[in-house]
Amino acid sequence: MNSKKLKCPFCERLYGYETNLRAHIRQRHQGIRVPCPYCTRTFTRNNTVRRHIAREHKLEQYNINSIKCEQHQMSQLQSHSQ
Ligand SMILES: [Zn+2]
Ligand SMILES: [Zn+2]
Repeated sequence: MNSKKLKCPFCERLYGYETNLRAHIRQRHQGIRVPCPYCTRTFTRNNTVRRHIAREHKLEQYNINSIKCEQHQMSQLQSHSQ
């Protein structure tokens, strides 16, 4: 009697066990997501994020640290080379 099936919230698939459903969601609907640091969107690939940032946020490179720490770059480089 206790054959309650779990439905995937993203598609119509049914699973008998939560672990199976979770594995399905991770594989089919989530994958390895890369979040954009400038907005809430996520992407499946690093390249897609870079292209999105270049287009939407008008930045040429996915290189936040150099932008943020432009003034500290010299001292950072020096400490890195130690
Ligand atoms: Zn699904
Ligand atoms: Zn973005």
